[in-house]
Amino acid sequence: MSLQGKCAVVTGGSRGIGRAVCLELADQGADLLLNYAGNREAAEETAALCREKGVRAEIQQGDVSRAEDCSALFGQAAELYGRVDILVNNAGITRDTLLLRMSEEDFDRVLEVNLRGAFLCMKQAARLMVRQRSGRIVNMSSVVGLRGNAGQVNYAASKAGLIGMTKSLARELAGRGVTVNAVAPGFIGTDMTEGLSDGVKQAILASIPAGRLGLPEEVARAVAFLAQDGSGYITGQVLCVDGGMAM
Ligand code: NAP
Repeated sequence: MSLQGKCAVVTGGSRGIGRAVCLELADQGADLLLNYAGNREAAEETAALCREKGVRAEIQQGDVSRAEDCSALFGQAAELYGRVDILVNNAGITRDTLLLRMSEEDFDRVLEVNLRGAFLCMKQAARLMVRQRSGRIVNMSSVVGLRGNAGQVNYAASKAGLIGMTKSLARELAGRGVTVNAVAPGFIGTDMTEGLSDGVKQAILASIPAGRLGLPEEVARAVAFLAQDGSGYITGQVLCVDGGMAM
């Protein structure tokens, strides 16, 4: 697999799965522009690790739920690299609690970042990619978007919504050389899952046929596979990287 000469925009590239995606794409030769929300130090560290692999890597702060920040992100990508070959919509948050306790603010904010953020970035990327007549968009969904999860109605709605959005845009762009797919990770060891109580972690572990947590690098390899030129006949798909959780 090679992404030599490709330019990728990765949202939420500072930490966790996003960082692993940046490193994998860099390993395969892609230049990067990585977005982050507030953790500049982590973003700079990821970019430095990518540069050590011999590619260009720049960072840009921005809240993906804000249209002006997404517009600035893609403006910067165009200025730096002149094109965008790969978009990975990875930025995501959780605000977990049971429905009866969930505030409207917590519902709206998760939808804003996870779903609206991907919509805004896809809109920016699609404009460039249609003109290029080539492109790869990969959206980070979740096993929770397929199966649901108690305490996550907001998050599940955003991740299921991403799948619907992925399939719809895949249909819109299939004839233009642009593919749109989703990756649905299961339970991956990152800051996002670190905060769960031991009881919840044990219950989740018991539901994973593989019997272990996934690694960010395992998700990143699936993203890089879908980003290849050679994956051009795969579109509108959801690739689960979940140790068998969703089957
Ligand atoms: P994480 O460690 O919490 O990292 C979240 C990333 O998103 C960070 O880079 C963060 O930037 C960025 N971010 C948050 N809000 C943002 C905003 N408004 N605008 C731009 N960037 C924003 O999460 P993770 O576990 O790596 O998850 C990455 C993606 O995978 C998410 O979409 C998540 O839903 C999905 N996922 C994760 C798991 C899992 O088990 N971990 C499972 C399924 C799906 P800062 O560093 O600047 O805060």
